[in-house]
Amino acid sequence: MTNFYKDEHYSDEFPNHKLVYGPVKSWRFGQSLGIDPIFKISTCSFNCIYCQLGNIQQVSSKLENFVPTEKILIDFENVLNDGKTIDVITYSGSGEPTLASNLEEIIDGIRKLAPHIPQYILTNGTHLGIASVQKTLNKLDKVIVKLDAWDDRSLSLINRADKGINFSSLIEGILSFTSQYKGSLEVQTMFMPINIEKDLKKYAETLMRINPETVQLNTPKRPYPLSWHRENRGNHLGIHHHEIRELKTITSDQAKKIEKELKEMTGLNILSIYR
Ligand code: SF4
Repeated sequence: MTNFYKDEHYSDEFPNHKLVYGPVKSWRFGQSLGIDPIFKISTCSFNCIYCQLGNIQQVSSKLENFVPTEKILIDFENVLNDGKTIDVITYSGSGEPTLASNLEEIIDGIRKLAPHIPQYILTNGTHLGIASVQKTLNKLDKVIVKLDAWDDRSLSLINRADKGINFSSLIEGILSFTSQYKGSLEVQTMFMPINIEKDLKKYAETLMRINPETVQLNTPKRPYPLSWHRENRGNHLGIHHHEIRELKTITSDQAKKIEKELKEMTGLNILSIYR
């Protein structure tokens, strides 16, 4: 772990050196403590146009050991000892958490330290077809998968996926995961004016194939940062100390209409951020 502190990314430029952030208030899950297994620079297999991390610095699909498990567990234990309310632990942070090859070890370590707190993950779903990732995510209480696209064109327009990822490989991977996962599976989707014309029928068909317990209908409530810094994680107010671009959101009426139509088409439980 010594080398980690000497790492070029572990510098004074980013005073926030914690691999654990929050707890931050989640509109769905209460006080959510974020765990960041990526940390050094933003790294993801997507580069979504609305990402709260800003433009992803490293668009990659490669599994790597980004940070030492031991450092995460020390940071986590420090927060536990502070005695703050933690309703859930959420793996998210500086990119796509399933890219961390030590994720299983981190989950096991945190489970030992806090067996009573449920563990969730926010994932873009690109790695759910991989057997080792499935084994790791099976240890979690809830998996929340992002699904904004309904075909290759929308995947490239909204999520700007890494090369080699297409809509059918993404959905096949998600279905392979759901066929064996025993925990709770949710889908999270982002609506903005740019995709308000979303082909709802095609989108609903995909949702029905996945058959999640709940669909969270979101619109970007956080701005798009024009530079990378660690306050981009979670909903820290520090994000407003940096240059940002506000994103256009859909209105409450538009969200209600989408919610109603998706419910009628799928019969699924749809929860809108405007509720
Ligand atoms: S999947 Fe998440 S972390 Fe990755 S670019 Fe999209 S919003 Fe950002």
